[in-house]
Amino acid sequence: MRIIFLGTASGVPTPKRRLSATAVVYDGETFLFDCGEGSQMQLRKAGLRWGALRRIFISHLHGDHIIGLLGVLMSLQVGGRDSPLFLYGPTGLEEYVQTSIRLMQARIRYELVINEISGGVICDEKNYYVACAPLEHRIFTLGYVLVEKDRPGRFNVEKAEQLGIPAGPIRSQIQLGEEVVLDNGTRISPDDILGPPRKGRRVAYCLDTSPCENAEKLASEADVLIYDGTFFSDEHQTLARRTGHSTWREAAELARKTGVKRLVLTHFSPRYTELEKFLPAFQAIFPEIILASDLMEIEVERQHAHVHRH
Ligand SMILES: [Zn+2]
Ligand SMILES: [Zn+2]
Repeated sequence: MRIIFLGTASGVPTPKRRLSATAVVYDGETFLFDCGEGSQMQLRKAGLRWGALRRIFISHLHGDHIIGLLGVLMSLQVGGRDSPLFLYGPTGLEEYVQTSIRLMQARIRYELVINEISGGVICDEKNYYVACAPLEHRIFTLGYVLVEKDRPGRFNVEKAEQLGIPAGPIRSQIQLGEEVVLDNGTRISPDDILGPPRKGRRVAYCLDTSPCENAEKLASEADVLIYDGTFFSDEHQTLARRTGHSTWREAAELARKTGVKRLVLTHFSPRYTELEKFLPAFQAIFPEIILASDLMEIEVERQHAHVHRH
């Protein structure tokens, strides 16, 4: 599982930072969370396969999160896409997309499935599911969590031999976590043969929000929490509340409270530079903070994450 930050500015882009868009590559798919202006160019720069892009999740309809969407949809058409593309986002997403397509007289020939959602599990696949919940911002905004399903532990072949479990379907049953009875009457519990269950990874995405209960729920135990880093300074506390954003202190406190492993701050106000120097004060609250930069990549392994900057 890889996370690639395509755009990390809020409001307006800067020469170094494009607008919000984050890709997650997992299970043969590329997921896109938000689609700020310039996303199609950033997808190209990151070398991501367009064909693998199947699902785009939009947090809210503010321009810095959706203006790049039409460009991506048109690039997919030019690239000859023929498989469906699934869009998820708040009410209004369908009207925005369909009206734009109609006014531009653009031809999108592949199937565009637009899901206007407001909470709960929104897609449930074999290996993962994605859930969302409303956050606290100036307009209706959704946070998301991508959850890899837990897998049964590793099958211990040596032990299976010792216990006389024949190769074949009976072993598959055990691997699926079922109890079996051998021909000689011995009852085998999956716990006898399987190692500890392998815990699935969780990536939460909560941008453009004040700290709130739903953000905490989505973030809970996440391997990586991607969170609103608009304001670094406590001085902007009032401004953060008024505009529906968070300060770094609030982000760090939320990460500590919810047991996340890594906190990645993004969506930085373009008025700030040299953000790194403000970081140590907040690492005292929660040590594992990463400041996102454009095209930065995070490898999410089971247990821990590795960072590569470009
Ligand atoms: Zn924003
Ligand atoms: Zn916003």
